[in-house]
Amino acid sequence: MMALVIVVLAIALFVGTGSRALIQTAHSIVTGQGPIDPLLANALFLNVALLIFGYRRYKELTREVGERRRAEETANWLAQTDPLTGCLNRRSLLPATTGMIEQAQAQGQNVAVMMIDLDRFKGINDSYGHRMGDAVLIEVVARLRALLPGDVPLARLGGDEFACAIPFADQSAQSIDALANRIIERLAEPVYGEGHTLNTGASIGLASTIAFVAGEIAPDADELLHRADLAMYQAKKFGRSRYFWFETQMAREMRSRSEIERDIRDGIDRNEFVPFYEKQIDLATGRITGFEMLARWNSPTHGMVAPESFISIAEEIGVIGTLSESLIRQAVKDARDWGSDVTLSVNISPIQLRDPWFAQKLLKIMVEANFPPSRLEVEITETSLHNNLGVVRSLMTSLRNQGVQVSLDDFGIGYSSLSQLRTLPFDRIKIDKSFVSSLCSNPDSAMIISAITSIGDGMGLPITAEGIESPEVVTALQKYGAFKGQGYLYGRPADATTVLRWLNEDRGTSAEPAVPVVPVLPAPATAKRAKR
Ligand code: C2E
Ligand code: MG
Ligand code: MG
Repeated sequence: MMALVIVVLAIALFVGTGSRALIQTAHSIVTGQGPIDPLLANALFLNVALLIFGYRRYKELTREVGERRRAEETANWLAQTDPLTGCLNRRSLLPATTGMIEQAQAQGQNVAVMMIDLDRFKGINDSYGHRMGDAVLIEVVARLRALLPGDVPLARLGGDEFACAIPFADQSAQSIDALANRIIERLAEPVYGEGHTLNTGASIGLASTIAFVAGEIAPDADELLHRADLAMYQAKKFGRSRYFWFETQMAREMRSRSEIERDIRDGIDRNEFVPFYEKQIDLATGRITGFEMLARWNSPTHGMVAPESFISIAEEIGVIGTLSESLIRQAVKDARDWGSDVTLSVNISPIQLRDPWFAQKLLKIMVEANFPPSRLEVEITETSLHNNLGVVRSLMTSLRNQGVQVSLDDFGIGYSSLSQLRTLPFDRIKIDKSFVSSLCSNPDSAMIISAITSIGDGMGLPITAEGIESPEVVTALQKYGAFKGQGYLYGRPADATTVLRWLNEDRGTSAEPAVPVVPVLPAPATAKRAKR
């Protein structure tokens, strides 16, 4: 402002007297007539200097103000925006939703809040690294933006969770149902990047301003977001890639995620996590060769919970190592008395693979329980290998040096490259249950099992088929080779007491196998495969 005043005054001075002084001084210099009035000349120079100074200062200040305004705008943008995807962030979702509700209500419309959570995203991050995870998030946002109406605020709430508030006119909210379906379909399409095909999906929770009962006050933005969140957890619970509208009983039924996290932590302290065991069978003889330990959460509030519902949360909150070690400690104690030829398999999370002390911890558990390492088999899933090869290789070497066997679990669904597999010293391949259970009904599964058998033969690795549900599958599998097998045909996973009964039955009927045995068919391909 000051600079502007100086410029204005300098201009006024110049217009008032400076221009006359300039003419006189210039005339004296050019013609040499008449003396140059030094006072006038100095005043003139001062006036010009003032003009230049004032103008430059004014320009500088204008630039500084512009920069500051832009910096403020950027800071505002950053405070409201998720830098990766350009979506709104969690903080700005609430005011944006409130704004959308007010705008919609003014036009006699309703608003639906949609909470979107990506399925299997954590697996992508763990397996392919954060760069691929980021690329998936960016692609997901592009797909969402293409499907959502233009003015709808879309926010990323952190991780793989998104939310938006959509106005709609129809009382039945059919347009929102149709939109949710389109989003689920579109996000189920694979994302391609850096030579990988990545599969994700979306579970959606919805809540709207439509009253449940006549006269009910419409929920505010905060309440709507909470309701949509509850509905989204319901969608996840009922098997992903689906959407649920909020219903009032959900609020009562569903406990918040933080409560579940707390229950898991408390459950570990109270030893609520227990090992169950699934039989592993030599398909040629029908005899038990070992058991796979599968975690169960015997929760006083949630009942007997399957690992799908708690392993990923335990991984996210950083307690998977403690949980797994406590289960393995119980399992080796149970397994000690099973007999010297009965193996124990345990599943290991990709997070544990990154623990440089994992092999030592495992050894300590076995030493304390006096359990021979040669009877322990560690299962690593195929998907946990990506980006972890170096770490996995050194861990496998430590484990094998101790005499522990290492199996490649869920083989066939993780798109591992064969050259990578060759560099890792696995002792066994486990064919994923999805191929085995559909072996007799899906020709593709048969082809994949045949291919995996060739890989096993080529690499000299024995094979376990998991997910055997019928004697027909056993017959079909025996055409490929001498597999070990496991699955519901032989019994559901059960506790340690049942395992002892199974073993007694198995031994008591050693002449007659305890499980349905199908005649062994000639299998030339098995010659090279070491059978354990
Ligand atoms: P997995 O290691 O592939 O285990 C096999 C899963 O398939 C088990 O499910 C088992 O109950 C189920 N299954 C067995 N036979 C059949 C069958 O014939 N048909 C069908 N449809 N399913 C069958 P579960 O116990 O729910 O475990 C799921 C996954 O959770 C396991 O898959 C494993 O990856 C993980 N898991 C289990 N326990 C632990 C653990 O202690 N630590 C870690 N990190 N992961 C675990
Ligand atoms: Mg397993
Ligand atoms: Mg498996």
